Amino acid sequence: MFGRKSNVFSKLKSKSGTIPNVVNMIHVLENEPDSKKNSPKLIQKINSEPDSIIPSTSKSVNLIQQVQKLEDNTIKPFIDYTNGRIFYPILSHIEEPTDNVSYLDGLVSDGILAKNIYEKLIVCPVHSDVFSSSMRLYCPKCHSMNVDKLNLFEHKKCGYIAESTNFDFTNSTPSVCPSCKKEIKNFDKEIRVPAMWYQCADCSEKFDNAVIKLHCRKHDHDFDTNSGKFVTTFCYKLRNSDMSNISDSTQIRDELVKLLHGFNFTAELNFLVQGKSGNVHEIPIFGKNKYNNDSILIFIKNQSTGISESDMNSILIPKLDIDPKSTLLVTVSDVKEDVENLAKHYKINLISDPNFSKIISRVEEFVSAWYAHNGGHK
Ligand SMILES: [Zn+2]
Ligand SMILES: [Zn+2]
Ligand SMILES: [Zn+2]
Repeated sequence: MFGRKSNVFSKLKSKSGTIPNVVNMIHVLENEPDSKKNSPKLIQKINSEPDSIIPSTSKSVNLIQQVQKLEDNTIKPFIDYTNGRIFYPILSHIEEPTDNVSYLDGLVSDGILAKNIYEKLIVCPVHSDVFSSSMRLYCPKCHSMNVDKLNLFEHKKCGYIAESTNFDFTNSTPSVCPSCKKEIKNFDKEIRVPAMWYQCADCSEKFDNAVIKLHCRKHDHDFDTNSGKFVTTFCYKLRNSDMSNISDSTQIRDELVKLLHGFNFTAELNFLVQGKSGNVHEIPIFGKNKYNNDSILIFIKNQSTGISESDMNSILIPKLDIDPKSTLLVTVSDVKEDVENLAKHYKINLISDPNFSKIISRVEEFVSAWYAHNGGHK
């Protein structure tokens, strides 16, 4: 749908069904021939949508950072009225076409952005690709456009009421009341506008309501306001509640990848791994020790609602099917006690801490202990 695929997938060629990182894998297997057993089969990314709520590329993170700089954290449309096009210039920051609305809609599905109506444009019913229409006023009697707006002005001090044309409010001379001849210094405070109407300069007709038409500027014709079509434009607002979670998930993910690399693991993001059942699972971080081929699955789940039993089940299924050496679930969210017990029961190492850096150091402790236990090739 949009750029959720991690870099590793975009590098893969889809022809001939080759295994990703095949060179790397063969290298590992050659060095450690005994480690072939229980090695989960790695398969190539197919055209399935990951069900992870974490956007997997830094693209969306970049976009989020840009949106945070915007007023009201909202992406507003830019409208090319003449050519009838709607752009979101912010997309150019992440090298997406500025009219790629589906990218933004994808972030809406992910719960990152909220989509709201920005405005409804009335467009020409014949030329609906032209957004540029202006309002025109006509005399209801002779249909002339030569219509003037008239006001009644009242000088509050002396009570004199006359048509606005009798008052001279040009800047050059001090305005003076035609009746009491006193100077009017502050229009807003000293003058009341008790009435307003129109007058046709051609037929002299006075009327309250002029005939209003919309004018299609590009094709130079009028259309009735009721016959106009609506074009809805949308703005996209960052959902604050999810913001810190997304940013946490991304930071944690990046740090964990670095950490695994430091301990001589490969670390692939959103990697597809085929389990014993033949089913394919997408793993947020899939690590493999370069020396003994031990594998680790790392799941990151941050959500304001806390970690529930069903979250745990969604981890349990790939865990049991792939049967890696270790499985980690890291989260800054609250974890309920029964969920903790479930994790313990199925040997899922749960690392839960509201503090981002503590999570990283706890994962480091875990991997380091594991590493030492296995003889610590570095
Ligand atoms: Zn038109
Ligand atoms: Zn007229
Ligand atoms: Zn006066």
